[in-house]
Amino acid sequence: MQACIHRGSHEIGGSCVELRSSGQRLLIDLGLPLETSGDSARYVPAVRGLDGSDPSLLGVLISHPHIDHYGLLGHLSSSVPVGMGAASRRIIRAASPFMREELPFIQEGWDYQSGVSFDVGPFRVTPFLVDHSAYDAYSFLVESDGRRLFYSGDFRSTGRKGALFRQFCSSPPSDIHALLLEGTTIGRTGLGSKPGSGEYGLERRLVKLFSGTSGLAMVHTSMQNIDRVVSIYKACLKSSRTLVIDLYGAAILEATGNDHIPQSHWSQVALYIPKYQLRLAEKMPDLLERHSRNRISLSMIRSNPGGVTLLFRPLHMSDLESGGCLEQALFIYSMWEGYRERGEYRKVDLWLEKNAVPLSIVHASGHAVTSDLQKLASCLKPLKVVPIHSFTPERYGEFFSSVECHDDGEWWDV
Ligand SMILES: [Zn+2]
Repeated sequence: MQACIHRGSHEIGGSCVELRSSGQRLLIDLGLPLETSGDSARYVPAVRGLDGSDPSLLGVLISHPHIDHYGLLGHLSSSVPVGMGAASRRIIRAASPFMREELPFIQEGWDYQSGVSFDVGPFRVTPFLVDHSAYDAYSFLVESDGRRLFYSGDFRSTGRKGALFRQFCSSPPSDIHALLLEGTTIGRTGLGSKPGSGEYGLERRLVKLFSGTSGLAMVHTSMQNIDRVVSIYKACLKSSRTLVIDLYGAAILEATGNDHIPQSHWSQVALYIPKYQLRLAEKMPDLLERHSRNRISLSMIRSNPGGVTLLFRPLHMSDLESGGCLEQALFIYSMWEGYRERGEYRKVDLWLEKNAVPLSIVHASGHAVTSDLQKLASCLKPLKVVPIHSFTPERYGEFFSSVECHDDGEWWDV
């Protein structure tokens, strides 16, 4: 078995790895780079058969529903099967009508079950559910020709599903020849996690902030970061607030298919449809009806702002301002800070300034700290560690033994 990283050997985002064995090929991830401009077609890697013209391309395995891992699927023929967690597929499909630019159509293919192997031509694939800021995220063991490659995907141990990491490390697959290891945090943060820096610590910080605010609490996060939504919901329960979502939020939570995840009909969850979502909501009457049991109006938020935490999106701004809901309000930014540094966030910052709403930043990374990356490497004992999804592959040698760096586009033996 041979492997080629098409993108990701020196960058975070745009991950794509091609595997080849007995003349057959399999792709892992087909992501869009984080920094892009213009037509996404220019970022499509040079892989034969993405247009469906070459049957030796057997399929694409997507590790998780983050755009930097699946965002180029729109350039893949519908005849090429795509593997994904079933909930991931539902989440992307549910999100699509709400996006400014429609998300790629997701081809049919394999639905993963954690720990259950399936064969794709000469490849045997075993997906493992992992803890990550995307819901339904997986690592993969891929076996072929007697060689075994482990693709870590994006993962962490400090989220709400951290037990998955500890379970995995207690009985890892053996005889791994190559570990393709993500290194998002290498060179960015210290070696270990700071106490309270994970998802549970974040929940505690939110409880404090919610409890210390007499007005409306707004939290801006990615609605698809389901772990984060759960942390916010739990903090609401502990501070006697109702979590208010919009129709997009309701659709995403429903798409998880998991009745342990907060849903629009739960007693401490309410639906508010912002003005800018009304027209879209009317086009989806079934969805709207399914989620309207706890629907509230702007005047209901205004009459009891201290009893509400809103999952904020920029389309809420004009409603909240004109509805007079911002007295004593608090705004919490709960995403990667890089997004805020980009120009488009300026509008939200100006709106906060204008309305004298203070901003707090409360975030936890979706990625493993270096000591967890080391734990994974030491339990898998691979013959070589190959850097991927990192801006600092040259630093892997400081933390792992048997590091073998491979450039984008280079073929190497697993
Ligand atoms: Zn990710």
